[in-house]
Amino acid sequence: MELWIQPCAQCADLYGQSAIATPHDDLTPNGVGLVKDTRAEEHYTCVRCGAVFARILAGAPTRQIWMLLNAGQH
Ligand SMILES: [Zn+2]
Repeated sequence: MELWIQPCAQCADLYGQSAIATPHDDLTPNGVGLVKDTRAEEHYTCVRCGAVFARILAGAPTRQIWMLLNAGQH
């Protein structure tokens, strides 16, 4: 995967939102079905900008968000 991508507008918008928000149209799931015992998180890649997201689905509600794993704007 590309490191330190520049997120497209849709990814920048999704970043930090609650995990109940739905993925935008350019996100494709990574490795769905690989994890059998838990659905603690899902990973997605954006076909437009290459952003990789983790959608956290377990733990404290305040931590169940869309995390952008490879943004480099900071
Ligand atoms: Zn994107």
